[in-house]
Amino acid sequence: MMLPECTNCKQSLNYKETFLNSFKLKPRCRKCGSRLYLTTKSRQKQSFISVITLIMWGVMTGLFPHNLIFNILFILILAILIFLITPFYTEYSNEEEPMF
Ligand SMILES: [Zn+2]
Repeated sequence: MMLPECTNCKQSLNYKETFLNSFKLKPRCRKCGSRLYLTTKSRQKQSFISVITLIMWGVMTGLFPHNLIFNILFILILAILIFLITPFYTEYSNEEEPMF
């Protein structure tokens, strides 16, 4: 897994920048200021991971239906882990790409 780079100036983005960019609506390169767009592949990975997470949560609540605190903690920890690994599967493009 690698961190993304700016498609305009080829500057590698560090973990913190990429992590913070995932919360921004219009992320920009810190060095050249060009707009960064998520690639179709990157969006598909995010969608896939979200669906897998929901399935895992569904399985866990099915296995432990009476343990509400465990289920809430499980989904919280899973969500935090997903946010933390997001920069490693983020790829940028210099133009907006279609979702599919
Ligand atoms: Zn740049």
